[in-house]
Amino acid sequence: FPNEFVNAIPVLKTIEKAGFEAYFVGGCVRDTLLGIPLHDVDITSSAYPAEIKEIFNRTVDTGIEHGTVMVLDHGEGYEVTTFRTESTYQDFRRPDHVTFVRSLDEDLKRRDLTINALAMDADGNVVDLFHGLDDLKNKIIRAVGNPHERYHEDALRMMRSIRFMSQLDFNLESETEKAIEDNAHLLEKIAVERIHVEWIKTLLGQRPQLGIQKFISTGLYQYCPDFADYKDGLIAMSKLDQLHLDSEIECWVLMGHMFSLKPQKTAKLMRDWKSSNDLINQVELAQTALECQSGLTDPHVLFETGKELTLAANHILKILNQSTVTDEAIKTAYEELPIKGNADIAVDGSALIKELGMKPGPQFGKALTAIKDQILDGKLANDHDQLLAFVRENFM
Ligand code: ATP
Ligand code: MG
Repeated sequence: FPNEFVNAIPVLKTIEKAGFEAYFVGGCVRDTLLGIPLHDVDITSSAYPAEIKEIFNRTVDTGIEHGTVMVLDHGEGYEVTTFRTESTYQDFRRPDHVTFVRSLDEDLKRRDLTINALAMDADGNVVDLFHGLDDLKNKIIRAVGNPHERYHEDALRMMRSIRFMSQLDFNLESETEKAIEDNAHLLEKIAVERIHVEWIKTLLGQRPQLGIQKFISTGLYQYCPDFADYKDGLIAMSKLDQLHLDSEIECWVLMGHMFSLKPQKTAKLMRDWKSSNDLINQVELAQTALECQSGLTDPHVLFETGKELTLAANHILKILNQSTVTDEAIKTAYEELPIKGNADIAVDGSALIKELGMKPGPQFGKALTAIKDQILDGKLANDHDQLLAFVRENFM
């Protein structure tokens, strides 16, 4: 048992003592059996939410309408979800309502993939109704039950299937693959934000090439914002052999590059994918640095881009086999910058007004930019009096 399970066993035992069933379920069981770190521990139980709240002193209603109650135990929170079915699906997304049931089997049937439909009790006994253990061993992504129906019920499952291929380095079972091909168009019904999450997880996985390849061959990409235009770039991405991405920023910088987009067009793509403005701005900076001819150790590039985003750009260049500098060289060049932000400059706008009597206007902005460039080029020291003298000579 991983530590996360050991700590949660008293919660399972307490539920059992009250006369109900309780199991670890889903991703945490899958990852435990694979021996990889867990994200979160999910517990499923025959007890209804009201019953869970009676059993434990301290609970929080985190998603009670879906049957989830958080149990607080020894400073940890555990999500306990009542066994449920999701009977009627409308419009290919989430179910209209959930029905609580008393049978674990019913609960496992509603889950997306065989490897995600495993449950484990407090003694380590695994409940495996759909040969999920075999699929784990053979590294296979397979839908639970009839794949056609399952993807029809909830089209996001197609993106999840692709995502798990990449994260786990698994293959797609052929009936499951066929069902994705047939239902790919239903992805249009899914909120872009949810597709976005799965796509980025796909790119950040250990074998993104596998996921990207099926994302293309099944046609899913055509139903994602703007991607119908970028098939060639996606194919090229799936053929990169050193493809290991460390952050969402890197994902978008690489996509912008592979799709031959100027930074501004990458920003448009990202907006269509409902990215946050903060992320868009960071990607724009990093991609601008990546495309900059003067190289990543140029003081101006480093000043504008900052250390972290410059390193991200360099990582992408390494993936493309186009990097010409080491990370160490970038870090050293950054340390050597005389100024690291506008706040470090020994003269600011108010000094120009108060001490030189300048008025805000076009000249004003130009003067401040010129000061910054002179310092970064090592032509002027970052010294208050020298900088003012420079402005007096050149801008007044
Ligand atoms: P992660 O490592 O990303 O947390 P996970 O398998 O735990 O992976 P979650 O999104 O946390 O994924 O979902 C928990 C479990 O709920 C899944 O393992 C699966 O059994 C079930 N599940 C999640 N989303 C769906 C879905 N769209 N359709 C059916 N079952 C789902
Ligand atoms: Mg999870």
